[in-house]
Amino acid sequence: MPESFISDFDALVQARPPAQPLVLFETATVLGGSIAGLLAARVLADHARQVVILERDELPARPGARTSTPQDQQVHTLLPAGRLWLERWLPGFTQETLDAGALLSGSEATATLLDGHRQADAGAGFELLGASRHLIEAAIRAKVLALPNVSVRHGRATGLRYTDGVVSGIDYVAEGTSQMLRTDFAVDAMGRPSRLSDWVAAADFDRPQLTRLESPINYTTAVFARADKAPDLPITCALSLFSPGHANAGVSVAAANAIEDDQWIVMLMGYDEARPGRTADEFRKICAGLPSVFATAASGPLTRDIVTYHQAESRRRDFAHLSHFPARLVAVGDAVASFNPIYGQGMSSAALHASCLSAYLIDETDLSVPAISFFERQQVVVDAAWAISAGGDSERLDAARGTDVPEQVAQQRWALQQIMSATLSDPSVAEAFNSVSYMLRHPASLGDPRLIERALAASN
Ligand SMILES: Cc1cc2nc3c(=O)[nH]c(=O)nc-3n(C[C@H](O)[C@H](O)[C@H](O)COP(=O)(O)OP(=O)(O)OC[C@H]3O[C@@H](n4cnc5c(N)ncnc54)[C@H](O)[C@@H]3O)c2cc1C
Repeated sequence: MPESFISDFDALVQARPPAQPLVLFETATVLGGSIAGLLAARVLADHARQVVILERDELPARPGARTSTPQDQQVHTLLPAGRLWLERWLPGFTQETLDAGALLSGSEATATLLDGHRQADAGAGFELLGASRHLIEAAIRAKVLALPNVSVRHGRATGLRYTDGVVSGIDYVAEGTSQMLRTDFAVDAMGRPSRLSDWVAAADFDRPQLTRLESPINYTTAVFARADKAPDLPITCALSLFSPGHANAGVSVAAANAIEDDQWIVMLMGYDEARPGRTADEFRKICAGLPSVFATAASGPLTRDIVTYHQAESRRRDFAHLSHFPARLVAVGDAVASFNPIYGQGMSSAALHASCLSAYLIDETDLSVPAISFFERQQVVVDAAWAISAGGDSERLDAARGTDVPEQVAQQRWALQQIMSATLSDPSVAEAFNSVSYMLRHPASLGDPRLIERALAASN
């Protein structure tokens, strides 16, 4: 992987809003008003006189569930890369979530457990925000919609209009009536089921190539009242079980986060046929066999029904290698790539895609041609997230199927294994590893031979 990916990624993580942004558009439209759409709208607010977010759901006035984002009932961890971005572009975001009851856990209150063993303290700079997805989204929405030039229109986008190869309008349906919105720039933030590829293909543009990776995950998330606030208990805990035993009823990953309203949100995840914790009794029984924070978290009364989620595969769409694509059209968030969610990358990826959009618009790129330079930047972010999540899933699949892998891949996996083992005892290796898993650094930074030597020394 070229070294430049590391510095390009660093630049996107460090990006800040432009000091003197240039207004490029009269109207910019974002299709989809969830996390990725809201963050894109924040960026566009610097460059358009008005930004319209077209969203098919009625958006709740208070933190709460809605129809088109079923994942919002599941545990959502906001990684440091995403929170840093939010704090820079929507100042005060963290404090407002804390005022609403969210918790910030530093290294002393965060436990990352590999097969039950706790990772070494990686030091400061890796705080995780404990909050429900509902609260995170509501806080972002409130701040973005408070911008004077951003508004939401309720409607379901049904297609695009083009003038001489440039996007010029959005067709949508609102209250049963077909309507059209003129626009000078459009962003697809319609999430995993986005139909943008069909729309552009129907208009004889290139269809982005879709890559799928089998990754059948079964989430079960429960929320419990949090009575026990023992100071020695972590308030954010992620557990990976590489060799789940029968006693754990098929759990491969589990998470327990203290969140607003004095609650614990607890998730159990199994691969393939394993669907752990579908009933309250089973959920509690499994938690009782996991590290003590899980037993404590699951000991209070449930504050809402247990909710399950199944996802069969990770997906990514390649927009960076298209030769015939409409100008003034980009895609962000899950519409471009959605991964195995156990790595918690989705919201932070969306934030880094927004960084790519800002860099693209600041560059004053030629807007009469397809936004390939945007998609190339974004590909660095997608590759980084994919390397982590798809890397893990491919290894699991290869092991299950007994597939022989090329020597180079085997070596990379071996090196990563050494690094992960060393995170249990060596704080500096834990720091390097967390920088990558929290999306603050590109995964290629783990290929540094000095790091691998250090990891080997720590394991011996
Ligand atoms: C089980 C699970 C757990 C997860 N856990 C984490 C986690 O811990 N940390 C993390 O960072 N990420 C996590 N994610 C990922 C995260 O949910 C997404 O990456 C994030 O929400 C960004 O998604 P998005 O905004 O691109 O799409 P979505 O959130 O799916 O939103 C798409 C939006 O587009 C709207 N829309 C769709 N079609 C139309 C249309 N035709 N017209 C108008 N509007 C439309 C929808 O109503 C919706 O509002 C998890 C995902 C899953 C499935």
